[in-house]
Amino acid sequence: MRTRRGIAALLGALCLAAGSCDRPTTDGSRLEGPRIWMTAPSQMPAWIAPTGRLDDDVVSVTILATATTRTRVSIEVRDAADALLVDIDAPEQSPNRVLGTTAGVLSGTIPSSSAALPLAGNYRVGASATGDGDVVVSVWTKHASSGHRAPRTQDLPLVVFTVGDTRPDEVRLSIALGEIGRIWRTAGIEIGEPARARIDGSEGTRFERLQIVPTLGSDSPQLGELLRLSARAPAPGLSLFLVGDISSASGSAIWALSGGIPVPPVAGTIRSGIAVNATLVDVDPVRAGQVIAHEIGHALGLFHTTEGPILRAAGTGAPRALHDQLLDTPECPAQADVAPADGVLSAGECEDHDAGNLMFWAATRGASSLSAAQADIARRSALCR
Ligand SMILES: [Zn+2]
Repeated sequence: MRTRRGIAALLGALCLAAGSCDRPTTDGSRLEGPRIWMTAPSQMPAWIAPTGRLDDDVVSVTILATATTRTRVSIEVRDAADALLVDIDAPEQSPNRVLGTTAGVLSGTIPSSSAALPLAGNYRVGASATGDGDVVVSVWTKHASSGHRAPRTQDLPLVVFTVGDTRPDEVRLSIALGEIGRIWRTAGIEIGEPARARIDGSEGTRFERLQIVPTLGSDSPQLGELLRLSARAPAPGLSLFLVGDISSASGSAIWALSGGIPVPPVAGTIRSGIAVNATLVDVDPVRAGQVIAHEIGHALGLFHTTEGPILRAAGTGAPRALHDQLLDTPECPAQADVAPADGVLSAGECEDHDAGNLMFWAATRGASSLSAAQADIARRSALCR
């Protein structure tokens, strides 16, 4: 006779197989868009809310600017009071940082910085590209039931692609996924059982060993071509591509790489996902989970709490470290560069500062903490629902 407990266990097993039928974990949110317009490089920018005001429940705006060729693309964003949020000539030095690109596709989010909060009532966006041709600008607004504040809880659906002959051990892969889930749960983001897909045949062979151009990073052509295959995902979600190896021309191994900061909420672009070196999953699945969780942080719009290379201030030449633009994240000062004083801030040198944060630039094993502001930005991401 089947006991009630037996039936509950059976239902539990079915839920696991189907992906998720737990009670809803999310506060709820809805993504509106894309609203698409085309602009010639010299044209005047357009308002995101043509009616004048963004709805009162908007928690983030995601912008994707696509040129007709692989070229430098940039955007300018001003708020309703005409304050500059993204500088078209220096997107990475803007009050609301956006990663610059020469690969023809730029993605950005408002807010990426504490300075962009609370959200203004509307934004004006312009785009430019070097060379001829138009830029297509797509905009998504994310709405939540909590006013302009980030929802307290969200779900992040994932799609795991295995590429070519890459066959990670399934037990180790589930350990890695468990670690990703543990880390993001601390930020109020629940990651369910991922959908699965394969890239086989000649494409599998072609992308199994990814080559990253050190000077290009996420703009590397082969990475972009692989991430485009996210269009084949069997379900909506953030695509993770497990490949046999990722290496750079310098010969060093790369464990994982996000297509952008953020990854846009649309499949099929050169920024639509994360490439993961499956070797690490087999060697150290917990560490692999932490590395993938770091890249998911980028995909959700987070920058490094501290960057490795130390800059020199214009004029005085004083050493200056580059940090994210969130008020509550710990920062490693340039003065910590002492062991050795080589112009790069290492995890050892930043141990008393932000080396334990998931988004430290060279996060080591165990680094998995996230601040309240980081969690807030991540839950505003258009990829979460
Ligand atoms: Zn990183």
